[in-house]
Amino acid sequence: MNTIAKPLSAVLNRIEVATQAAGRPAHSVQLLAVSKTFGPQDVREAFEAGQRAFGENYIQEAIDKMAALPDLPIEWHCIGPIQSNKTRLVAEHFSWVHSVDRLKIAQRLSEQRPAHLPPLQVCLQVNVDGGANKSGATPEEVLPLALAVAALPRLQLRGLMAIPEPAPDFEAALAVFMRCREVLNALKAQGLALDTLSMGMTADLEPAIHAGATMVRVGTAIFGGRPPKA
Ligand SMILES: *Cc1c(COP(=O)(O)O)cnc(C)c1O
Repeated sequence: MNTIAKPLSAVLNRIEVATQAAGRPAHSVQLLAVSKTFGPQDVREAFEAGQRAFGENYIQEAIDKMAALPDLPIEWHCIGPIQSNKTRLVAEHFSWVHSVDRLKIAQRLSEQRPAHLPPLQVCLQVNVDGGANKSGATPEEVLPLALAVAALPRLQLRGLMAIPEPAPDFEAALAVFMRCREVLNALKAQGLALDTLSMGMTADLEPAIHAGATMVRVGTAIFGGRPPKA
């Protein structure tokens, strides 16, 4: 029995209800299923239930999972922090990266993207609410970074990703997500052709969709709770 099909369809329903409530066109928000810490069998069940895009945080774990699912044409997204010594694995194995926050990483990804693959699809991670030690470029850093990344030959810059701190209520979450959207709009006003705003997770996908998210990254509501990190 496929135990993922039901929670997956409940999440898709949440997305469509929020999309409609926000007055946005049906199917304008894509679901990225975040399968970190879950095994290949769970990914396979979600695939069989119709899900095609999966997000992973830990690069080696993701690559092991890909190797266990060679028959499935999955679109893999890297959404976790990337150290310089992991860029080659990311460039060789993923279709998308959401978590680029400095030029050095982007340059390495572009240099290491194999010629036989399409350009790596990239979002810049922006930190709109956090302290200095949180990952993500600040809103001030993001324009020069975006212009430099957009010029790299083997990357295609698509937009922004954000992971705001949990907010106390809908309005507070909405305000933070609206700031991300404003940062995206400022980049577009500079002539960058961007179409992706990756924001919203299990707890806050509704305010994210109200603020203009085009991709929500959902793990817990699909696959269940994860064990606390060791
Ligand atoms: C784990 C994770 C998610 C999914 O979070 P849930 O609360 O389980 O939906 C989304 N984005 C990133 C970057 C994550 O690390």
